[in-house]
This record gives sequence, C-alpha cells and structure tokens, in this order.
Amino acid sequence: QFITESPVRRRDELGELSEGITYMSRELEQSFARQKQFIGNVSHEFKTPLTSIIAYSDLLDMYRDDPELLGEARMNIRREAGRLLEMVEKVLHLSALEQYEFNLNAERVDIQETLAEVCSRMQGKAIKFDLTIETALQPVMVRADRESLIHIFLNLLDNAIKYNIPGGKVHVSCKAEGGKAIITFRDTGIGIPEEARAKLFEPFFTVSKDRARLTGGTGLGLSLVKRLVELQQGRITLAASAAGEEGTTFVVMFPIAAKGLQA
Ligand code: ADP
Repeated sequence: QFITESPVRRRDELGELSEGITYMSRELEQSFARQKQFIGNVSHEFKTPLTSIIAYSDLLDMYRDDPELLGEARMNIRREAGRLLEMVEKVLHLSALEQYEFNLNAERVDIQETLAEVCSRMQGKAIKFDLTIETALQPVMVRADRESLIHIFLNLLDNAIKYNIPGGKVHVSCKAEGGKAIITFRDTGIGIPEEARAKLFEPFFTVSKDRARLTGGTGLGLSLVKRLVELQQGRITLAASAAGEEGTTFVVMFPIAAKGLQA
C-alpha cells in the first residue's frame, strides 16, 4: 500500500509546492511593482511644492520693495514647505507600517471616549469652516492601538470638514452590532464622483489636483487610514457618496474586544 500511494502523494506535494512558489513569486513581483510605482509617485509629488518654493524664492528679490507681494510670496513658500513636510511625515509613517517590526499596541480602547476626544479636538476647525459636528456615540470596546485609532478618526473627520460646504454638518456615530464596532463618519459635503471611488485608498490619489491644492491635501491620508485599519483586523468602506447633495459616508469596523480580558 505504501509503495503505491507514496509516488502519488509526492506528486501532490510537489504540485502544491510549485503552486505555492508560483503564488509567492507573483506576490513578490506585485509588491516590487507597487514599491516602484510608490517611489515614482513620491518623486513626482515632491516636485510640485519644491518647484513652487524655488519659483517664489526667485521672486523675493524682485518683490523687495513691495511689502504686499513680498508677504504673499513668503506665505506661499511657507504653505508649500508645510505641504512638503506633511508629505514626508506621511510617507515615513506609511513606510514604517510596512516594516514587520513595527508594533501596534493591542490595548482595550473605548471607542466612544476616543471619538468624543477626536470631535472635541476638531471643534475649532469645524467652527472655522462654519460646520456643526453631531455625535451619536454608544459604549463600545475594541482591542487596538489607541494612537492609531486617533490618527484614523482625526483623518476621516478632517476630510469630512475639508470637503464640506459652509453651513454643513458632520455626523459621527459608533455602536456595537453583530460582534463588531461600527463607526460612521457622514458629511454633507461635496461628495466623491463615481469614477474616483476605485482609487480612493491608493497613495497620492486626489479627486482633482485643484481640490487638493485648495485644501492642502496630499492624497496620502486615506491610504494611511486604510493600512492602519487593516493592520488592526478592521475594515473601511466608502458606504455612500454622491457628488453634490448627499455628501459622503465612510464606515469603519473593528472586532469587539472580548469581555473580561485585561489590557
Ligand atoms: P487628502 O490629504 O488629499 O485629503 P486623502 O487620501 O485623505 O487625501 O483623500 C483622497 C481624496 O479623496 C481627497 O483628495 C478628496 O478629494 C477625496 N475625499 C476624501 N474624503 C472626502 C470626503 N469626506 N468628501 C469628499 N471628498 C473626499
């Protein structure tokens, strides 16, 4: 029996092994391609603010005797340098998350309390944009890295404010349902066009360059958010968006922390 079964089993094992190797090499190839594209994007995106900084610096001499134009040029240099710094920080954060040794905490976190803190931190910005933040927060505990959760929520709330309309609203909610923590950010903003949705979570993707320039966006926020959510067994989806009236809704889900486990 051993003699007849053995070669067949070995053939199966070899077949599985070769499938495994093919799969791994495909994954590696895709990962290299993604990295190559990412580096290309980084270089391209860094060029825009740097070119502006050089152009405005060249104008400083010319505007020497005109305080108004001089002030404007300085302000533009400052703004573009700020954008550049934000991009560098986000790229570093993204690349740190790619490292295996990057450790996220798995502590018990109260989502209700975390969201309340994030909303209160963004209150000033909301007022500045003539927006109201409404909340419907229920108690729900997850096991996650608190700092990363704050980062995720701040980013989503910031977008809901940035891409809103004056007099608009942002509705933030959390609840426990079907073993999951369900967190929702709903805004009354300008929406995301249908054709942009597939690429929304890709690094450097912005719906339109003009929109990004006006709001100071880098197109890195949502890719960071997605990575941080998924590293903690969560999921993020664009639940609804209609260009114009209905605004945008993002839903984030995490598994609920088992009761009784200590942090
Ligand atoms: P950015 O730093 O440019 O805001 P993100 O990765 O956070 O980058 O978002 C990518 C793009 O998705 C943005 O450029 C913006 O056009 C669009 N977007 C994100 N959130 C919203 C929202 N709540 N409403 C409308 N558009 C949004």
